[in-house]
Amino acid sequence: MIKKIGVIGAGQMGNGIAHVCALNGYDVQLVDINPAQLEKALGVIGKNLDRQLKKGKISDADRQATLDRIATGTDFEFSTCDVVIEAATEDEAVKKEIFAKVCPSLKPEAILCTNTSSISVTRLGATTDRPGKFMGMHFMNPVPVMQLVELIRGIATDESTFAEIRTFTESLNKQPVNAEDFPAFIVNRILLPMINEAVYTLYEGVGSVEAIDTAMKLGANHPMGPLELADFIGLDVCLAVMHVLHDGLADTKYRPCPLLVKYVEAGWLGRKTGKGFYDYAGETPVPTR
Ligand code: NAD
Repeated sequence: MIKKIGVIGAGQMGNGIAHVCALNGYDVQLVDINPAQLEKALGVIGKNLDRQLKKGKISDADRQATLDRIATGTDFEFSTCDVVIEAATEDEAVKKEIFAKVCPSLKPEAILCTNTSSISVTRLGATTDRPGKFMGMHFMNPVPVMQLVELIRGIATDESTFAEIRTFTESLNKQPVNAEDFPAFIVNRILLPMINEAVYTLYEGVGSVEAIDTAMKLGANHPMGPLELADFIGLDVCLAVMHVLHDGLADTKYRPCPLLVKYVEAGWLGRKTGKGFYDYAGETPVPTR
């Protein structure tokens, strides 16, 4: 019986995962190495709950109960958690270090999941003490809004683990889709090369930021332009996924655009840093090229 969820990493994804788990009745332990991120995460969760309240999707009591169910801290203490979901920075070394720190304190039956966008679930699971109880649970951003969760079975994942996490996903009012453990799974395998191509289109001067986003919104009926979407995802995350596709599939069609690399080198990571393909300092985002 799953009652308590540990969430590691209180960034964009971690705060959303904590929100959705708590809203659906689970106790949540949200942990980050950076205390400022935890404070920020609670602020974001509060604002997102307010939005849901205004839209009539939740009651005032739901809002309060959700906040009451979330505990935060910088200690990697998950001994009372039934499921722990890792949503820290998309860096294999960071994730492996986290698993080494977390595993010894877990209950033997606890399931460990990773929200990685692109790293091999099998390889990550193999570094833990529980590859049979390890799998990918890939939420979409923003978590409280997006319906999909990709479920990724590593080669060693037990069938019972997979079944339990599938039921848990449904209990969060999310739609699970099974994806095999290949680089970037389904959504990002298709989405990120499109975003990378949009950056090449900008890099080669085919269109401006505004022209590219308008073209894809009005010409392909996408709700957001690809560059706007890249800023929303985080340009560092986009670049990391392209590297994984390029390395994992060894095909030059996945070569990250040099302009994307430059933006990341500049620390222009999109909305989360206030600047990416757009500058978010003012009332309305202004294209940076
Ligand atoms: P983010 O940069 O917003 O947050 C990452 C958080 O991890 C930060 O708060 C950071 O302080 C924390 N962190 C770093 N090292 C840590 C450590 N050793 N221990 C604990 N916390 C640590 O990143 P994000 O966008 O939330 O992405 C997190 C994960 O979710 C990544 O694996 C990413 O690939 C995946 N993901 C991202 C998206 C997206 O659209 N951004 C979508 C699906 C999945």
